[in-house]
Amino acid sequence: MEHVDPAGVGSSPTAVGFGQEIYDLAGRLFPICRSITGDGVRETLDVLSGHIDLQQHEVPTGTQVFDWTVPKEWNIRSARITAPDGRTVVDFADSNLHVVNYSLPFKGILPLNELRPHIYTLPEQPEAIPYRTSYYSPTWGFCMAHNHLMEMSDEFYQVEIDAELKEGSLTYGEYLHRGQTEREFLLSAHICHPSLANDNCSGLALLAILARTLRTRRTKYSYRFLFAPGTIGALTWLSRNETRAQLIDHGLVLSCVGDAGCVTYKRSRRGDAFIDRAMANVLRHEPGAKLMDFSPYGYDERQYCSPGFNLPVGMFQRSVHGTFPEYHTSADNLDFLRPDCLQNSFRILNDVIDVVEEDWTPLNLFPKGEPQLGRRGLYAALGGHKSSGITSMSLLWVLNLADGQHSLLAMAERSGLSFKELAAAATLLSEHGLLDAPL
Ligand code: ZN
Repeated sequence: MEHVDPAGVGSSPTAVGFGQEIYDLAGRLFPICRSITGDGVRETLDVLSGHIDLQQHEVPTGTQVFDWTVPKEWNIRSARITAPDGRTVVDFADSNLHVVNYSLPFKGILPLNELRPHIYTLPEQPEAIPYRTSYYSPTWGFCMAHNHLMEMSDEFYQVEIDAELKEGSLTYGEYLHRGQTEREFLLSAHICHPSLANDNCSGLALLAILARTLRTRRTKYSYRFLFAPGTIGALTWLSRNETRAQLIDHGLVLSCVGDAGCVTYKRSRRGDAFIDRAMANVLRHEPGAKLMDFSPYGYDERQYCSPGFNLPVGMFQRSVHGTFPEYHTSADNLDFLRPDCLQNSFRILNDVIDVVEEDWTPLNLFPKGEPQLGRRGLYAALGGHKSSGITSMSLLWVLNLADGQHSLLAMAERSGLSFKELAAAATLLSEHGLLDAPL
């Protein structure tokens, strides 16, 4: 199924099977109760390790990471609210969203009016359980459907959260695909959300499968896959890899890559980095795709693009986080993911990798006037060669812009043609001795 194309053109794996495989892997990750620390992260990394040889890191509680400190490790065994007649009203076992992530342990009998401030609902989406966290301000709480809360009419409830906050560690995983150079392409996904499918089981699963399919490809760049808890995990990686971070030439943060919405790319803080141009070019040919300028709100691009690093890292997603009703609720479940959309996201990432890997700056060896294409059998290419994706316009654009000042990506930007098509045309022209050969 995997294939290596030494010419580099069209080397994206396009088999339809990847979307289903990514979906199935997201489905395995979905039930696990993750947080920014704890056994759920380890279990998730163990599942991903079934696909790639992940390195797991443990960073002790109390470790200083820039202006932040690695928090105590949180684990939860059970939590429930019980009515006086012994009926279970809310049970963590039914959904891990029912407990505010990082809740302190608690046990007691409370009147409803004292319990009420610890319960979070979404009155506008009365059937959905919200997702809430409280990592850095110690408290406890439950989340439930608003309609469900409205049915609670007893005077007292028994509450028990069997959770633990202890000196432990923060866990993250990384995998490095070594290329011919040490320069890196960073692909990063947050691993801290519990049962939320699009945000971000989709990103974790897609990156794991992408890393696996990349194994057989010879690349110029080294590809670093990072699976770390949001914010604190990215900060931890950066603080332990300050020098290494300088090797990052391209980067993408991934989240929400499996819903049916159109794809979105948010540019890096630099705005004109190669990855920004490559993504813009690939998305130019995707129906409905959106490009957004950088803003210091979102996922871990906030850390990678902080002024002390200013890395060329953008963010790739489908529907923009926070804008769809399923976001951060129990409605972000496996029904919200679509294998064909996961496959589309996967293919787009492969197309971008192709641009990063295969861009070069050709030089026309016959720059005075147009070279005579008919004599070289390239007139056929002008009419046909559709199967190889080469059109007459792509040959003419490449010949015209091959002045040593335009890379294939710059040609794609100027001509409006796809990178893939121009790369194929450049290969054909260099095979016929009209361009210098790629390095
Ligand atoms: Zn989120």
